[in-house]
Amino acid sequence: MPSTPHELEPPPDPAAHGDPGSGGPRFRVLGIAAGVVLASVLLVSLIARSSGSQAPRPPDPPDSHPALTPVPTPAAAPPVVRDADTLRAGRSLGQVLAAAGLGGDGYAQVLTAIRAHVNPRKLPRGLVVRMAARVPETTDRVALALDQDRTLVLDHRREGWRARIDSVSVSIDTLYVGGVIESNLWTSELFGDTARLAPNENVEIFLKLARIYAWQVDFFRDIRPGDAFRVMVRREVRPDGSVRRADVLAAEFLNQGRRLPAVRFVTADGPEEYYDENGNATRKAFLRAPLKFSPITSGFSRRRYHPILHRWRAHRGIDYGAARGTNVHATGAGVVTRAGWWDGYGRMIEIRHNSLYRTRYAHLSGLARGIHPGVRVQQNQVIGYVGMTGLATAPHLHYEFLVNGVQRDPRRVKLPPGKPVPQSQLASFERRRDRRLERLDGLGFPPAAHLAAAPGDTDRGREPSE
Ligand SMILES: [Zn+2]
Repeated sequence: MPSTPHELEPPPDPAAHGDPGSGGPRFRVLGIAAGVVLASVLLVSLIARSSGSQAPRPPDPPDSHPALTPVPTPAAAPPVVRDADTLRAGRSLGQVLAAAGLGGDGYAQVLTAIRAHVNPRKLPRGLVVRMAARVPETTDRVALALDQDRTLVLDHRREGWRARIDSVSVSIDTLYVGGVIESNLWTSELFGDTARLAPNENVEIFLKLARIYAWQVDFFRDIRPGDAFRVMVRREVRPDGSVRRADVLAAEFLNQGRRLPAVRFVTADGPEEYYDENGNATRKAFLRAPLKFSPITSGFSRRRYHPILHRWRAHRGIDYGAARGTNVHATGAGVVTRAGWWDGYGRMIEIRHNSLYRTRYAHLSGLARGIHPGVRVQQNQVIGYVGMTGLATAPHLHYEFLVNGVQRDPRRVKLPPGKPVPQSQLASFERRRDRRLERLDGLGFPPAAHLAAAPGDTDRGREPSE
């Protein structure tokens, strides 16, 4: 594959096997009053860090939101933390500041400064207020921890109180992680940069994979032991090691001998999208299944014995076994044409997707709020809940897929491919695709992964994009 030196990919990660915060900013922790408890040391670093110099940041990658830029601060002697307090019922900002010696005029000035950034009446309970001083017995800095990423810092200067927002500087790194499946995605054996994963980040990666491949892989039915995946994840990591944002830039899924690459690309006019090797969106007009992780209990057939009617008849749909109340998702975008009771279907929904396709969802225990005929629904939207209304012996979803008004097997019908990358951006996509898949390839699969197409799976192997 050709290399593309001009592309602004994240650089090879210097901290690849080290501390996730090692590429980030360094804080200068300066004066600490004698007798300050350990907790205060953390407070000092939080408040004093805006006085420290910021480490240079890596260039912004081309297809992400720009990372927050640290606010430059005039050099000054860092204040010493005096006190910290928490807003709660019966403990207002006014009371906290009054206790710190900021009453009357001082408080009014602080409020005015705060209003430039946030509404002081809407500060949440639990918000931590830290007070610090350069001169003993005064308070000339107040810091409000608005959230994990932003602190509102108020400084007393000669001309009065000034407020500014300090944003945590994140370091950007790239993770290469893979997994081999023994029984299901959620218990995959991980390999690669696993030591750098934040707590529960593996679950985040599984969820992202399930979303990226929702159109190609039914994660209940299509998964086999030995299936494997690998992902390239670009992350924004806070100094404390927590992850502010993580994007899967590229992924590869080995499913029953099928190799399914997916590369993230943001077109000029659209949100992020994943594309296969040929530049076709992995997102299709229809999801593989209306339930996320449920087994098929009865497939599509022309003849079967009906347990209630006690006679042979065709089953012109697919049954998914699931607990009552399980979310049912619209497999495609469209307009609701039926929503309510319809004979043996029980409580059901029918969606018209276009002049060709309709889908039906039957035996529901209930409809999602706002679902009624005429309403437009999005693909993947929750439209109802699994039940056993109508002709049903146990809770399950009966799903029908109609082409030109005739029920067809949704698992066999040939569907149109996803949208392609626009021709004008194809070269840019291909550069990214080549570079990322090449890097992903650097993370080899362990022997437990089944790389070759399994015999007898030729029908799947032939249709990698369906
Ligand atoms: Zn059925």
